[in-house]
Amino acid sequence: MRLSYGRDLIAIPGPSIVPDRVLRAMHRSSPNIYGGELIALSDTVYRDLAALARTTGDPVIYLGNGHAAWEAAVANTLRPGDRALVLATGVFGRGWAEMARRLGVEVELLDFGFRATADPARLAERLAADREHTIRAVLTVQTDTASSVSNDIPALRQAIDAAGHPALFLVDCIASLGCERFEMDAWGADVTVAACQKGLMLPPGIAFNVVGPRAWRKRVPCPSLYWDWAPRIEPELFYQRFAGTPPTHHLYGLREALDMLAEEGLENTWARHERLARAIWAAVETWGAPSGAGCDRALALNIAEPARRSRAVTTIRTAPGDAIRLRAWCEEAAGLTLGIGIAAPDEDGGSLFRIGHMGHLNPPMVLGALATIEAGLSALGIPHGPGGIAAAAEVVAQEI
Ligand SMILES: *Cc1c(COP(=O)(O)O)cnc(C)c1O
Repeated sequence: MRLSYGRDLIAIPGPSIVPDRVLRAMHRSSPNIYGGELIALSDTVYRDLAALARTTGDPVIYLGNGHAAWEAAVANTLRPGDRALVLATGVFGRGWAEMARRLGVEVELLDFGFRATADPARLAERLAADREHTIRAVLTVQTDTASSVSNDIPALRQAIDAAGHPALFLVDCIASLGCERFEMDAWGADVTVAACQKGLMLPPGIAFNVVGPRAWRKRVPCPSLYWDWAPRIEPELFYQRFAGTPPTHHLYGLREALDMLAEEGLENTWARHERLARAIWAAVETWGAPSGAGCDRALALNIAEPARRSRAVTTIRTAPGDAIRLRAWCEEAAGLTLGIGIAAPDEDGGSLFRIGHMGHLNPPMVLGALATIEAGLSALGIPHGPGGIAAAAEVVAQEI
């Protein structure tokens, strides 16, 4: 029997749930793009995006998705033939590396596997060996959405500094911005790369870079008029801000989303994501706890160390094939869409699924998703320990 009539719940790591307030703000006829309120509104959006990234640097908005933001950051900091060091902790670091390679950058990959963080000591060692300073930029991902690892950005910055290396530090915060603590200036990121369809709660369509002073100073001549930061940061005419027609409705939506984040307060937003993430971990750990008597339960969190787990997405390991059956049951029988496993080459994607918990989310949504997953585990006869939902509810009830 299908029970999936009612409001569907999407729990994939982007696009995330779009709040009704954002949808209402976008539900309007097209505004004037040559004058009037849109121009002042986009100024406030720029200002508040910088505040969201905790920086005095300059945001640059593109019509595009996360891949667009990747390309923009590379095209303004690296020329063909320049060298970049990419720290990979899952599929997304590798994807950014491939993007840079296709733009002619000489990419060196430091791969830390699928279940570990980028190691600051290995980074420091590699940079110290680069005596001629031929590496022009270090690219990393804060939260790799495939493995759901959360890299220690301040520690990586310290590693660059410890090696006395002048490389620019580019950080992909596409999954994490607006969900997990990120302090661009205090942590020493030179470029922040992000998009609007995850923590910012919009439909896909806006990508952005935030450019710090060092990256601005060390930028390279950008071969593309579209990706070039300079006219967008210092436009003579408004249309140069977007190299053409602005993303009109997305700007209204983004204005509303930034208002919602301001009303909650960024520290509270981070704390809410922390609490909801911990509730999810508690459920999974309870389902996967060994039951003794030789009965193995395969369910486990992909990242063992709590401090290094993302607060925006959780990757869960199952016995081979169970993840696929479970996702299908949740979607078809119950109306809950879970994230597919995106595996590193040496991993089996069929034994991974992901819960996206970014953006517009509260306990009834998270507990509802977890209870539905538990129902799916039972319906499919997938071995799991009792009490997962109670454990999650306990976390929601705690004062941290
Ligand atoms: C989602 C995501 C991307 C890719 O974004 P698209 O909008 O799919 O192009 C890149 N990096 C990270 C960390 C992501 O979470």
